[in-house]
Amino acid sequence: MTITHSAAAPGLTDRVMDLRARMLEFIDGEVCPAERVLEDGGPAGEAALEKLRAEARNRGLWALGHPVELGGQGLSFMEFVHLNEIIGRSEFGLWVVGSMTQHDTIMWQRYGTDAQQQRWLVPLVAGDYQWIAIGLTEPDAAGSDPTQMATTAVLDGDEWVINGRKWFTSWASLAPCVLVFAKTDPDATPHKQFSAIIVPTDTPGYTHVREIRTMGHTAGRHGEIRLTDVRVPKDNLFGPRGEAFTIAQTRLGPGRIFHCMRWLGQMQRAFELMCDRARTRYAHGSYLHEKGEIRRYIAESAADIQAHRLMTLDAARIIDEGGDDRVAISLIKFRGAQYLHNVIDRAIQVHGAAGVTEDFPLEKMYREARYARLYDGPDEVHRMVVARRLVKPDAVPPWQQ
Ligand SMILES: Cc1cc2nc3c(=O)[nH]c(=O)nc-3n(C[C@H](O)[C@H](O)[C@H](O)COP(=O)(O)OP(=O)(O)OC[C@H]3O[C@@H](n4cnc5c(N)ncnc54)[C@H](O)[C@@H]3O)c2cc1C
Repeated sequence: MTITHSAAAPGLTDRVMDLRARMLEFIDGEVCPAERVLEDGGPAGEAALEKLRAEARNRGLWALGHPVELGGQGLSFMEFVHLNEIIGRSEFGLWVVGSMTQHDTIMWQRYGTDAQQQRWLVPLVAGDYQWIAIGLTEPDAAGSDPTQMATTAVLDGDEWVINGRKWFTSWASLAPCVLVFAKTDPDATPHKQFSAIIVPTDTPGYTHVREIRTMGHTAGRHGEIRLTDVRVPKDNLFGPRGEAFTIAQTRLGPGRIFHCMRWLGQMQRAFELMCDRARTRYAHGSYLHEKGEIRRYIAESAADIQAHRLMTLDAARIIDEGGDDRVAISLIKFRGAQYLHNVIDRAIQVHGAAGVTEDFPLEKMYREARYARLYDGPDEVHRMVVARRLVKPDAVPPWQQ
């Protein structure tokens, strides 16, 4: 892949172009070749991750989008969006360059008190620990309708007493704390009943029940956790009481842009692998790329990538300008997840049996693509949001913003 740009785009400054080129060299040259050992984890995986993180710092690629006052390099939102397309070429890219928690930082900066930011956010950006987990989804309630969450938090003197179960709390086993979403105000209207509370993972009553295996693997480290009479100080309330859903949206909106740019990196890499294979594999009297069906796969994939790229950059622009971003974000979330899935699926098909082996990165990319249609809201919920909003007579669709 080469890095060029023909049209001026917000955020695509000379500095960002230079960073994109350096990032590409690092991700393709160092991170992609280490993916297998990183995925296998264990001491070898941990050592490889630490080595790569040190190298990212040496190359000036660490925490590029985090604010300077928190120890980051202060790229603007739109600048980081362009970087994320390159970082996303490897599923491990964000971990390695200290940017996995970019969307958490946006939320923590808006809602965390100074004391909370110093205690949790500053060490996170420094890389002292890798993650702050988010506990919304529960095994016994439909996660796509969070008003059904059953976890409770009751104020007892100066402490919250929390009881409940969460699952798919990603990377909980690596996190020093989980931001737990719990019902604090059962008598309020449904969307004002819930609050976010910081729960350190070493608090008595907090149990990490298991890592949930997904599609035959545990590499995503999705935790199931149980909270039994967990007591944390009243001051661990995160943001205003009863405002959990508003708070979560400040993470989810930019987070979906970052996901979508990362998915572009995945799609572009799968596309390159597909073209390489089509150029060199010979069957039935011609190379694969000379066959009409395979040309269709290549052309359809190029169309998916280009469509997703333009839609995502436009949604990012709307966020950046403070516009009404809800429809634009839902559009890229469900359409982008489908494009991601389709492009990787075609690349696997062109590789034949090799495509589903661990000799190529495609099978791992495919698993991750399948999850993309569920996390941060399943496709159906995003389509519901789009249709419910756009059917209103006074709706302003993204193409009019
Ligand atoms: C890889 C991965 C990582 C995750 N990480 C986290 C995390 O860190 N923290 C966290 O809290 N959660 C996390 N989740 C959970 C995720 O947010 C939920 O899976 C998601 O919100 C859906 O909730 P659910 O699984 O309970 O599905 P349900 O709500 O039970 O929905 C099941 C299905 O019902 C259908 N459906 C739902 N609503 C509608 C509707 N209105 N119209 C039509 N059909 C509908 C859809 O097909 C949907 O897939 C993660 C999930 C995955 C897969």
